[in-house]
Amino acid sequence: MTETGSAADWKSMAGQVSPDARPLMHGKRADADVGTFDLVSPRDGSLLCAVPACGEAEVNQAVAHARAEQRIGCWPRFAPRRRGEILAGWADAIEAERSELALLISLETGKPIKDAVEIDLRGVVRAIRWYGALADKLHGDHPDVGGNDVALVSREPVGVAGILLPWNFPLALIGYDVAPALMLGNSVVVKPSEQAPLSVLRCCELAVAAGVSRDALSVVPGLGHGAGQAIARHTGIDSVAVTGSAATGRAVIRASGESNGKRVWPELGGKSAAVVFEDADIAGAAAAVAWGAYFNQGEMCTGCSRLLVQREVYAEFLDALSAETDKLRVGDPLDWATSVGALTTGQQLRHAQLATEEAVAGGARVLRGGEPVAVVAGGHYFAPTLLADVPESSQVFTEEVFAPIAAARPFDDVDDALRVAFSSGYGMGISVWTSSMDTAFRVTRAAKAGIAWVNCFEGDDLTVPAGGVGRSGFGRTKGTAVLDKYSDVKTTWVRLAS
Ligand code: NAD
Repeated sequence: MTETGSAADWKSMAGQVSPDARPLMHGKRADADVGTFDLVSPRDGSLLCAVPACGEAEVNQAVAHARAEQRIGCWPRFAPRRRGEILAGWADAIEAERSELALLISLETGKPIKDAVEIDLRGVVRAIRWYGALADKLHGDHPDVGGNDVALVSREPVGVAGILLPWNFPLALIGYDVAPALMLGNSVVVKPSEQAPLSVLRCCELAVAAGVSRDALSVVPGLGHGAGQAIARHTGIDSVAVTGSAATGRAVIRASGESNGKRVWPELGGKSAAVVFEDADIAGAAAAVAWGAYFNQGEMCTGCSRLLVQREVYAEFLDALSAETDKLRVGDPLDWATSVGALTTGQQLRHAQLATEEAVAGGARVLRGGEPVAVVAGGHYFAPTLLADVPESSQVFTEEVFAPIAAARPFDDVDDALRVAFSSGYGMGISVWTSSMDTAFRVTRAAKAGIAWVNCFEGDDLTVPAGGVGRSGFGRTKGTAVLDKYSDVKTTWVRLAS
């Protein structure tokens, strides 16, 4: 497959994809003697394939390979430059196969193919290249401790890293977690989400083909309480990054405490707010908020699904946001023109409906959407929804619904707006819109959030860390902040003969 843009016939290309959900172990796809579960496409409810429900036995096998690689294998012993070159080759291989990978993502998650190509695939390739290029630029320290002593401070791989992935951006964390973990010389055991194993398995297969040692990277598909818990509890795993819901993060922390006390890096959900002041660029804020609330069908940890708007501009802002919402096109994920595809699971569709009904029963007004849309028979489609005057206690305002729903409330008092903005306990991001520097800093300083945006939403770069606080966890991706997840600092102290 070579076509990657609007000219491609994605529907007929989807027919040529052959899903393979077998685990990747010891460099090969291996049949696992386990039960299976069905992987169904949210696009149309069709069966994509049966996925092996791997568990403790397969995780044990992957960890045994991973530990052997650390003990006697070449991956941690390669010069960092060589690991970096291999990662660069992996990025090239992903780029060459971006159509197939994008199709797998779109089929398993329901996201628009255009986003899968232009955002997911571009993002993972960039991240792997970025961390590959960093490999030979890291160095330790040699502080002058005086006298006859020499001190060396070096960074060493933690050993075996477990990485539990979510489904909303299946490959993003291959770039932000797997690539830096490998770059530093670790062995990695990945568990993809049960809803999105295919793209992850194929992507990691390309890593081994590009030269990553076969025992340095395994992928074990399965369920959260099966393979997920087996990784969280494994005493041969030194570090676990978990990107998922707040409840999952707590379960993994608990499992670590009950096993070997491995470090856990939780990157969890969010319920980020946009706070729009009367002196803001209303049109700019509406366009950014529409993206923040509806991009990726609202299935985004940083999504700004709660809107607090100063009463003086409340009506004007909601009119502008309604106009932006009207520009979106809900459609078949395999149509290049689609901007909002299918929700990944039927459970989310039901949750979106129920949460909307609850808000309306509490007095909310439906300005746009509010109900499922028929797009492709058997699929899960929900209209981009704008709700005004939502009760502060309603689920659309307090919980991560993970659907294209924006819930708005007016505010009069800034302190009250700030209290409400963080009342959910989530602390992923906040987006503040104002032309006053004083107001902007007043809000960002008060923000209990990992990311504060001023007059923008999702300002983002590989050089800056991303992650949350509070119920959103404390793990970080991107930049050099991620190095602490996958390396230990060692001090070596030498006393010279006097
Ligand atoms: P999820 O919590 O259901 O699952 C995440 C991963 O953990 C999956 O691989 C799952 O199988 C595994 N898992 C589930 N229960 C487990 C358990 N008890 N023990 C061990 N592993 C377990 O999340 P999801 O529905 O796949 O993804 C959506 C969630 O992820 C949302 O809450 C979203 O906000 C969050 N997310 C956060 C970030 C971030 O960077 N903070 C990024 C993307 C997604």
